[in-house]
Amino acid sequence: MERIYDVIIIGGGPAGYTAALYASRAGLDTLVIEKMGPGGQMALTDIIDNYPGFEEGIDGISLGMKMQAGAERFGAVTEYAEVTSLELSGKIKTIETAGGKFLTRTLIIATGADPRKLGIEGEDALVGRGLHYCAHCDGRFYKGKTVMVVGGGNSAASDALYLSHLCEKVIVVHRRDTLRATKIYHEPLMSAPNVEFMWNSAIDDYIVDKKIVGAKVKNLQSGELSDVAFDGLFVSIGRKPTTDLFVGQLALDESGYIIADESCRTSIEGVYAAGDVRTKTLRQVVTAVSDGAIAADSAEQYVAMHREN
Ligand SMILES: Cc1cc2nc3c(=O)[nH]c(=O)nc-3n(C[C@H](O)[C@H](O)[C@H](O)COP(=O)(O)OP(=O)(O)OC[C@H]3O[C@@H](n4cnc5c(N)ncnc54)[C@H](O)[C@@H]3O)c2cc1C
Repeated sequence: MERIYDVIIIGGGPAGYTAALYASRAGLDTLVIEKMGPGGQMALTDIIDNYPGFEEGIDGISLGMKMQAGAERFGAVTEYAEVTSLELSGKIKTIETAGGKFLTRTLIIATGADPRKLGIEGEDALVGRGLHYCAHCDGRFYKGKTVMVVGGGNSAASDALYLSHLCEKVIVVHRRDTLRATKIYHEPLMSAPNVEFMWNSAIDDYIVDKKIVGAKVKNLQSGELSDVAFDGLFVSIGRKPTTDLFVGQLALDESGYIIADESCRTSIEGVYAAGDVRTKTLRQVVTAVSDGAIAADSAEQYVAMHREN
């Protein structure tokens, strides 16, 4: 007979391994399926200093490995494979990977989200070398310095405002002639003495000297290029949730995030979403681990209820 897990978790980031810790510690037969290594997006950053308990901060890879070890201590197992398709409608859910098929009573989706990139050549190599996608994570490195923020939506406006309290100068580069962000951001940003705007503009190329030190900014109306120097660049043009697999099976919002409430329940019974992949306001390690615990608790209750029947 094929093995049926109590809970399968897709994704070995902070949400996934916290769910695995809670589920395995509650005695559930728990499998994590991760396509790369432990840590998820945390593995992209050298220092996380806003996750409580590490007074000196901790690098993302070490924190990911600690979370994995913590879950495996209670019996959770990791399968390194990419989930390629799923069948979620029945009582027993089927998860397909290149390495084989897995069956489970409950599923926790913790596949995360990725920041949208500018798509300019060399971008990946500059991540952490002056180029960032998260102002709340990395803004503090630029205290008293000059930064550029690219974008004009809510995340860019919120990042620019946050950075304006830390940095000497914030230059906002936006493709349009006005912010797309909700009105609440307009007045504080426009009146901040250290925030400058480059409207109708976009980065054409980076200026690099070991790290990013500036950008060639193109005025999209005149075509004119200008060199702008800065210490750090924050790309705030949104995020892309990793939810292609679930289109047509689960309810998603207009941006592609899985609709799940504070209990992490989705539109299908026995299927939960935790971390950056679900609808929420703050996508950080602390909120991902919180979701992981809640999703595992919801899964545990579901398994217990359906065992009794
Ligand atoms: C550069 C950078 C710096 C950051 N710095 C901080 C910081 O300082 N502090 C902070 O609190 N937050 C920080 N964040 C945000 C934080 O990392 C995320 O909020 C958090 O990692 C979200 O956790 P998650 O478990 O929901 O998803 P993720 O961390 O995105 O993990 C998702 C996992 O799912 C796996 N996966 C996806 N699809 C599949 C599939 N089909 N099959 C198998 N596996 C799959 C991925 O490989 C990945 O490991 C940073 C993010 C970035 C990008």
